[in-house]
Amino acid sequence: MKIYIDGKYYSERDAKISVFDHGLLYGDGVFEGIRAYNGRVFKLKEHIDRLFYSAKAILLTLPLPHARIMEAVVETCRRNKLRDGYIRLVVTRGAGTLGLNPNRCKNPSVIIIADKIQLYPEEYYRKGLEIITVPTTRNLHSALNPAIKSLNYLNNILAKIEAANSGCEEAIMLNAEGFVAECTGDNIFIVKGNHLLTPPLSAGALYGITRQTVIDLAKKSGLAVAEPNLTRYDLFNADECFLTGTGAEVIPVVKIDGRIIGTGKPGPVLRRLVEQYHALTNSSGEPIYE
Ligand code: PMP
Repeated sequence: MKIYIDGKYYSERDAKISVFDHGLLYGDGVFEGIRAYNGRVFKLKEHIDRLFYSAKAILLTLPLPHARIMEAVVETCRRNKLRDGYIRLVVTRGAGTLGLNPNRCKNPSVIIIADKIQLYPEEYYRKGLEIITVPTTRNLHSALNPAIKSLNYLNNILAKIEAANSGCEEAIMLNAEGFVAECTGDNIFIVKGNHLLTPPLSAGALYGITRQTVIDLAKKSGLAVAEPNLTRYDLFNADECFLTGTGAEVIPVVKIDGRIIGTGKPGPVLRRLVEQYHALTNSSGEPIYE
């Protein structure tokens, strides 16, 4: 595997960064998780846009312009002969001192790893996930805005541990007001009648690229999409529930906090959206080899 660090490619063994990097010392940096399907990088522009927005929010000046980062992602895929895979793009604040001061970090580092994909086990896509609400609430906007895809993922990791301790793969995180925000690495949707509902971004969710793609697909196929505040009660009484994310794609949820959702099986709206989503992933994106 060839890993990109600051313009050079290294073998897995030699791909190393400083122990003084504030990405390591403080989780000070931003990242993206991107997918390649069928020789194309899916929604690359959208991911790089979001990387720039996250960086702006933490006052991190990226060392390369938008187009150059896009090129580096595509080139890393090419060097790894990747057609289908998962790309991790990381920008750290760079090496500094042991103190917090980010001004001591002169050179942010850009790291790109292009690897094989790690999906949920196939069974969950067929049968659906059982998930639970966990005690750890989503970060407050006023503390660390969940819209920032930063290297500081402890909020999500704690929730993930709580889910795993209860035998679940994913966790529903509420915000401080008790409304549904999102899951630890996925956005959440419900279907109620002819409506597709997902929490508003202001409830404390990442501006999910899969979320937006699914909203667009649903609107095109005539579903009414809305983004109201949702409570656990709304989830329990939904006809269908599913999660979206670059890694997970679109995955059904059939049980939440012990309540069976709808028929307890992946529903027709989910099935149609999964089909449409895959049609899109297989036919669009930034070409790696042309
Ligand atoms: N929420 C969180 C907290 C995430 O980390 C992610 C990405 N894994 C998502 C939602 C889904 O976002 P996207 O569809 O852009 O991958």
